[in-house]
Amino acid sequence: MLYKRSNQLFVEANEVIPGGVNSPVRAFKAVGGTPIFVKEAKGAYLYDEDGNKYIDYINSWGPMILGHAYEPVVSAVIEKAKKGTSFGTPTELETKIAALAVSMVPNIDKIRFVSSGTEACMSAIRLARGFTKREKIIKFSGCYHGHSDSFLIAAGSGASTFGVPNSPGVTAGTAKDTLLAKYNDIDNVKQLFEANKGEIAALIIEPVAGNMGCIPPKKDFLKQLREVCSENGALLVFDEVMTGFRLARGGAQELYQVKADIVCFGKVIGGGLPVGAFAARNEIMNYLSPLGPVYQAGTLSGNPLAMAAGYEMLKALQEDQEIFKRLEDKTAYLEKGIRKVLQDNQVVFTINRVGSMISVHFDANPVYDFETAKNGDNDHFKKFFHDLLAKGIYIAPSAYETWFITDALTYEDLDYTIQVIQEVTAK
Ligand SMILES: *Cc1c(COP(=O)(O)O)cnc(C)c1O
Repeated sequence: MLYKRSNQLFVEANEVIPGGVNSPVRAFKAVGGTPIFVKEAKGAYLYDEDGNKYIDYINSWGPMILGHAYEPVVSAVIEKAKKGTSFGTPTELETKIAALAVSMVPNIDKIRFVSSGTEACMSAIRLARGFTKREKIIKFSGCYHGHSDSFLIAAGSGASTFGVPNSPGVTAGTAKDTLLAKYNDIDNVKQLFEANKGEIAALIIEPVAGNMGCIPPKKDFLKQLREVCSENGALLVFDEVMTGFRLARGGAQELYQVKADIVCFGKVIGGGLPVGAFAARNEIMNYLSPLGPVYQAGTLSGNPLAMAAGYEMLKALQEDQEIFKRLEDKTAYLEKGIRKVLQDNQVVFTINRVGSMISVHFDANPVYDFETAKNGDNDHFKKFFHDLLAKGIYIAPSAYETWFITDALTYEDLDYTIQVIQEVTAK
């Protein structure tokens, strides 16, 4: 494939944008090479500036669950845009999408819309702190909750239970209020609660982790977290920015039958426009400004174009009885096919999958937390990534990312993908 124009555009972008990108993972640093510049997309396919076509397994990192340029979303946005793109006043559509979301997701009475997943998680934690009148939070190593200060924290060394800043610019003062736990390790969580009795406002988790590859929660892990949080008067926050409206209508809460106190959304809920949201029962949501004391706001929150896109997306997911079954079937088919060819080619691998989230790790051992996710053969992944790209298959440019399956994929696309994986991994 030729990437002439992409290469040139990347040079130009680097002149005026740091690293040439507006979000770091797009820069291909983890896999080497130059990012492809996408010109347009339709259904399951991306078309780049050089005229190359790709089957897309990233789907804007999750949102395009029904495929790119999904017609009802596109028309709704166009119609809305003609009537004005932002008013800074309430609009009827905000109530409609809120009511729809509340009807689809268990255990929530009210929802507030923001403009990104980062904002949703950041606001959820402020609300949890205000509500419980406590300051510390627990997060898990390898889980991503956006780029706000409280979450850019790594595990402290040795016996320290305090986190340390993961990026310059995050203060030590902020870091000391974020405690790091190991994913799927309930004893570790209990120890943190024990060592910080009465101080934990909230525990936040990706109920299925998607930012270190796809990592499912061990059996009963989420239920155990629910119990520990309740026993300690801490709120359980499910960051469902990835899993919400993807694993089921009601997200991971529905799939695993576990009640969260606050739920965060992003990605699918915006239908491809910048939307995030957080939601909870009345008692908690009423603590938010202007009803309650916890402040949170946004000039473009509930933006008409964003709400139009999100509403059409949620409506489609609500009305299509078979959608989550189809996504499951397609992804299971892909998993089965990849397993077979990797086994036949004697490749060392582990595949993790929940519903339409799937990841391939080049490691023979189970991958169940950040440590085990890091064991994969990164050089093999880089080669795998570029070999697939050259054959018109676009997976995430990092071994730590999940593939997102879209309903627009056909079985021919999946067969082609499996065949290519057979070819590029043949010894
Ligand atoms: C993508 C993501 C976020 C951040 O959302 P942005 O819209 O990129 O700010 C937060 N949490 C999880 C689980 C995510 O996958």
